Amino acid sequence: MALIEGTAPPDPGKARAARTDRVRSRMAELGVDALLLSHGADLPWLTGYEAMPLERLTMLVLPADQDATLVVPALEAFRVDHDPGLFAMRPWAETEDPLDLVAQLVGSRRSLAISERSWAVSLLGLQGRLCNASWQPASVVTSGLRAVKDNAEVTALRAASRAADRVARQLMGGEIPLIGRSEAQVSEEIGARLRAEGHNRVNFAIVGSGPNSASPHHEPGFRVIGAGEVVVCDFGGRLSTDGGPGYCSDITRTVVTGPPDAELVELYAVLHEAQAGAVRAATVGSACEEVDGVARRVITAAGWGDAFIHRTGHGIGLEEHEDPYLVAGNATQLVAGHAFSVEPGIYLQGRFGARLEDIVVATETGPEALNVADHGLAVVEA
Ligand code: ZN
Ligand code: ZN
Repeated sequence: MALIEGTAPPDPGKARAARTDRVRSRMAELGVDALLLSHGADLPWLTGYEAMPLERLTMLVLPADQDATLVVPALEAFRVDHDPGLFAMRPWAETEDPLDLVAQLVGSRRSLAISERSWAVSLLGLQGRLCNASWQPASVVTSGLRAVKDNAEVTALRAASRAADRVARQLMGGEIPLIGRSEAQVSEEIGARLRAEGHNRVNFAIVGSGPNSASPHHEPGFRVIGAGEVVVCDFGGRLSTDGGPGYCSDITRTVVTGPPDAELVELYAVLHEAQAGAVRAATVGSACEEVDGVARRVITAAGWGDAFIHRTGHGIGLEEHEDPYLVAGNATQLVAGHAFSVEPGIYLQGRFGARLEDIVVATETGPEALNVADHGLAVVEA
């Protein structure tokens, strides 16, 4: 864990209590009477506990005017690192109806916000029991708050990015053989290396070679990588520094298995300039869409505007994609603590493509790139 010498590790309990206070303030502003959190990142953000994506109901009931209660299957209650200062526990037995328990805890409160990733069957069951309630997504309360990372979260994101950087360096340094292996084999090795560098989960390891490098979300397959080919590698996972679910890494580096031709060198130089410019533009007070615009103008001026077919970036935290999104139409201004990817790409369909991605945090003293692995086009001839 990369802590600055002389600083104490962030106290997860204190950080979660401070987040809960911010959530309660936001609920008061919005007139939300109770927040109901099930699957998704809001629950671990506030409690450190991630609900299993199973049919049995797990739901934190957080009323605006009372302490929170976690309704959890009795057989999963052992997994909860319970902090009684943050929430009470209500384990439910197999013969109980957990929706009845939630409805009792909600009582006569009417304005409710529920995780958008709760099962529809949970919401429908609650709507049948709480007939006078009005419903909105929990993200209305939590998303803008979760997007702004506290110190504990930035520390966790930095540790995850540093670990991903180490794998990127292994890739660019030729330690991961490419030529003669399938994309799927390389993907598996990148995943294993993410784990070896401390990740507790691999979210994805995209390996797109040759013409597949022009497909941004390519699924690594049986294609065998040849000499003189572009290979786009985009990988990340979750790394836990405190026993919680962990924060995400996400990095893309493009390598070439042999000397690059002039067209690739030129395209990559434009991409590099676009990415670096967008990172520099990600200062506090800049609009998200403006950061996207900086990268897009560089690529468009070089004649490849139509080949940059996705937004410039996405927020990152407990989830690999969350607010804020760096995309035209998002006028949200960056504040200190916003964490997001900056990842322009240029894709020449049927031929080849390239992408370059770092995770960046906006700070009062300027953008901090959490990924520092070399940004050049690496020539890997193994
Ligand atoms: Zn990525
Ligand atoms: Zn990304």
